Amino acid sequence: MSAAIIDGKAFAEGLRARIATHAGEFAAKAGRKAGLAVVLVGEDPASQVYVRNKGKQTIACGMESFEHKLAADTSEADLLAVVEALNADPAVDGILVQLPLPGHMNEQKVIAAINPDKDVDGFHVVNVGRLSTGLPGFVPCTPLGCVMLLKDKLGSLEGLDAVVIGRSNIVGKPMAQLLIAESCTVTVAHSRTKDLPEVVRRADIVVAAVGRPEMVKGEWIKPGATVIDVGINRVPGTQEGKSRLVGDVDFASASAVAGAITPVPGGVGPMTIAVLLRNTIVAAHRNEGLALDESAI
Ligand code: NAD
Repeated sequence: MSAAIIDGKAFAEGLRARIATHAGEFAAKAGRKAGLAVVLVGEDPASQVYVRNKGKQTIACGMESFEHKLAADTSEADLLAVVEALNADPAVDGILVQLPLPGHMNEQKVIAAINPDKDVDGFHVVNVGRLSTGLPGFVPCTPLGCVMLLKDKLGSLEGLDAVVIGRSNIVGKPMAQLLIAESCTVTVAHSRTKDLPEVVRRADIVVAAVGRPEMVKGEWIKPGATVIDVGINRVPGTQEGKSRLVGDVDFASASAVAGAITPVPGGVGPMTIAVLLRNTIVAAHRNEGLALDESAI
């Protein structure tokens, strides 16, 4: 293996420590803690784990966590009423509705009901528009975390060729926008891309957000490139009955060629909640009209 390992777990720890400092200063100035509300509808086990972790980390950073757990058969109107109440609550700086929602609910309609200035997930169309026009808003947590890791490793990204594999609203598209804003030359590849290996071979930066275990092979990677693996895929483990997590990149072959690479687990994964908390402390300062050097967090 020649690639340097990009340690997202360590970076996320440092980020949470900076957030905790800002959260303490915010509470002293505002006379209240910054607050994050998380709404969970139904009992999806993975979502329950995410929500529990978000709550724990919010409190550990010195912020207030408000959890709203609603039954799976809650009506869309009742969920929208909860969102409206959170929009109006001055103790709530950030609102996150855990996705996916049950099938009888329209996710776009629910996201559209969140006040864009409390939309710390950055999924509201107003924030999508702000990102693409370069206005301050909120950026989806996973791609923002990827850019933080890239800048920490490479410094300026200006002029680099970046290939993003995946075009989802949550990862691929905002990732491409962020890389454009960093003055990269960006290619977005997806399920209909012709000759993906050849496209990836051009890239100084490869971001894989596909959801296919170990799809990106080492021989696709330009020697020395930086590889960010967003994928989280559970596959059968070496021991019977056990499973393990792998990314969208074949780590063994890619790490022999790349200059730097994120592992799975311990790469991009830990960044997502840390960036959510970062967006929440930013929202709190904006909501109270308090100064904060957002680029320094
Ligand atoms: P998605 O299913 O919404 O999108 C996948 C994208 O991959 C699509 O745009 C599709 O065009 C593309 N794709 C599918 N097959 C392809 C192929 N053969 N070649 C090239 N492109 C192909 O997924 P998502 O929500 O963007 O998530 C992607 C991965 O990232 C998943 O493994 C997910 O678990 C992971 N993820 C991790 C985090 C985190 O680290 N916190 C957050 C979000 C998503």
